[in-house]
Amino acid sequence: GLDVVWAERWVRRTAEVVAEAKDELTELDRQIGDGDHGENLHRGFQAVVAKLDEPDAAERTEVGDVLKLVATTLMSKVGGASGPLYGTAFLRAAKRSARPEVDTSGVVVLLEAALEGVTSRGRAEPGEKTMVDALTPAVEAATAAAAAGQDPVEVLAAAADAAEAGARATVPMVATKGRASYLGERSAGHEDPGARSTALVLGAARDAAL
Ligand code: ADP
Ligand code: MG
Ligand code: MG
Repeated sequence: GLDVVWAERWVRRTAEVVAEAKDELTELDRQIGDGDHGENLHRGFQAVVAKLDEPDAAERTEVGDVLKLVATTLMSKVGGASGPLYGTAFLRAAKRSARPEVDTSGVVVLLEAALEGVTSRGRAEPGEKTMVDALTPAVEAATAAAAAGQDPVEVLAAAADAAEAGARATVPMVATKGRASYLGERSAGHEDPGARSTALVLGAARDAAL
């Protein structure tokens, strides 16, 4: 199973990959939004790492303890659309992973909960050119991998690959939610920044388990 050490590695790895991709995410958001997505997420995950590093922090024993810290920090440090969306995703995932380890079905539950959080908050459906377009195929791929008897790391890898493909598939989409929807048809031809960052977060989850 994947334990609290994995969860911390996931979060720290996410902070690293977001730092590396900050300019790329900002550039994507410059094309169809307001050019702050990289900065927003970078600020958020740097704050998360600072919290993890606090010496007198309460002991974290459950996967959900780490994910809850991510949720509350992103909600308070990241404004815009993505802060509350990622915050709700991590909060729902935290509530469903209040245990020392998550197994194969636990990974699926965690991802499903994250998707539910995003959709309950943002009301986007697949095809609207948002992070939902990365997260939905990730949940589907994880469900299929789990049904095929794969282990938690393989399930995460399947989810990460599907999120990556899902993010790339947002390029031709016309945005109908979020800031990019203001561009109408002109939003087509660009990858959605939130879908790209979602693929990065799930890739970090996989890398942390290797
Ligand atoms: P803002 O648009 O407020 O500047 P960000 O740039 O940080 O916020 O995040 C933009 C991303 O948020 C988009 O690329 C998209 O993936 C995501 N997003 C926006 N609105 C929604 C929504 N209603 N549902 C899901 N995701 C959304
Ligand atoms: Mg933006
Ligand atoms: Mg903004």
